[in-house]
Amino acid sequence: MLSFRAFLAELKEELSSPELDLSTLDRLRAKYLGRNGLVNKSFDSISPDEKKAVGPEFNQTKKHIEDLLEDKRLRLLEQSDTAEFFDVTRSGTSFPKGSLHLVTYAVEEITKIFERIGFIRMSYPEVEWEYNDFEALNMPKGHPARDDFETFFVEAEEDPQLGKMILSPHTSSGQIREMLRVKTPPMRMINIAKCYRPNWDVSHVPMFHQFEGFVIDKDINITHLKGTINYFAKEFFGEKREIRLRPYHFQFTEPSFEVDITCGVCGGTGFLSSPSSRGSQKGSHLGENDNKIKCKLCKSGWLELGGSGMIHPNVLRAGSIDPAVYSGWAFGIGVERTFMMKEGLKLDDIRTLYSGDIRFLQQF
Ligand SMILES: [Zn+2]
Repeated sequence: MLSFRAFLAELKEELSSPELDLSTLDRLRAKYLGRNGLVNKSFDSISPDEKKAVGPEFNQTKKHIEDLLEDKRLRLLEQSDTAEFFDVTRSGTSFPKGSLHLVTYAVEEITKIFERIGFIRMSYPEVEWEYNDFEALNMPKGHPARDDFETFFVEAEEDPQLGKMILSPHTSSGQIREMLRVKTPPMRMINIAKCYRPNWDVSHVPMFHQFEGFVIDKDINITHLKGTINYFAKEFFGEKREIRLRPYHFQFTEPSFEVDITCGVCGGTGFLSSPSSRGSQKGSHLGENDNKIKCKLCKSGWLELGGSGMIHPNVLRAGSIDPAVYSGWAFGIGVERTFMMKEGLKLDDIRTLYSGDIRFLQQF
């Protein structure tokens, strides 16, 4: 008659070895309890009648071996300094979760809005040739318009045709690169990139972001420009917002427009409604507008969004596009400014955005 007691004795002997460690313990488990281990193998080798007889002892033995091994395992873990023992019932440590910077969120959202209407997202070099940033954009050397773009120059060899290397002060150099890349219209690009100008004060940072919308095809006109910016404004700021194009002057567009959007704080009226007590005072001599407080965020209901216009024929020519056949428009808008307008933020200091102060950033 088969007896399992011998296995128990043998195991106890092995467990008493001073050299026993956790990996030996795993081997012992396999040796005794594995599918082809001693206990199972012995049980498999006997007749069905015998099996019936020793069944209870077989089960008890397995349980006993299991207990001995587990007991030993816990003791080894306790003794070992390097053991990876942990109490599974202890509550966990939560680590702070990081998130994207809010300008990154804004860039992603802007990209998605334009991708929905078939624009492709491009990112052109931030270190750019003077030619692509100025000459090609209808601002020849010595032109006073170039003074509007104070520029960081890069210490690098000057190219006889392309001039010096600079940190691009706007995203418009991407227009030239896109024309030369695609060669034949139609072109529909949204170029979002960092721009650099040596200004550092409450409303300027030396590195900021712009997004540049750009379309060239046959029969493209101002209505397409206005429709596209209008679509963007409603998608990004909300259905109620309206835009307007206000005549302006830029070198690289003709005609040129400033783009304005209705103020989200006062709803485009320029006034906030007054505290109700004031208006309901008896015998008040206040006129209708005296009842109202001027909105501090906007100028009479409108906020400046950016610049835009029909691409100047000279710019098209610089990109090897025939202005007699094709026309196009472009706009350039600051990402940081647009984001702050969306949130209704009036930051006292735009530099806060890049201060790296997590307390500020966590609010969004
Ligand atoms: Zn307002």
